[in-house]
Order: sequence, then structure tokens, then C-alpha cells
Amino acid sequence: MNYMNNRIKCQVEECIYNGDGLCGAESIEVKSSGKSMRVGTSEGTRCSTFKYKNIK
Ligand code: SF4
Repeated sequence: MNYMNNRIKCQVEECIYNGDGLCGAESIEVKSSGKSMRVGTSEGTRCSTFKYKNIK
């Protein structure tokens, strides 16, 4: 994964694309988090590119 040119900061350490607070995915897709919810804050969004990494 390429973290050098990536400006996406992300604190989701459980994601396989995350390295030291940066996203290493080539691109990401962000969607609203609820079907009926009208998004008014960042809490109404979610990263669809997230993939779980076991960090035990
Ligand atoms: S894919 Fe999404 S959740 Fe995963 S590190 Fe990138 S921005 Fe964060």
C-alpha cells in the first residue's frame, strides 16, 4: 500500500488499509450511514472501503 502520497487521515486502526493514521487505499468510497437518515454531520457518513483487520 502507498501511504506516501496519501492525504487521507483516518483513525480506524481496525482497517487493513490503515497505517499510522493514514489511509493506504488507492481510492475510497464514502456513503451515508443510514438509509432513511438525512446526513447533517460527519457522524452520518461511513467509509465503504473499510475492510476488517484483526489487530489482536
Ligand atoms: S479504507 Fe476507509 S476506514 Fe480504511 S483506512 Fe481508508 S479511510 Fe480509513
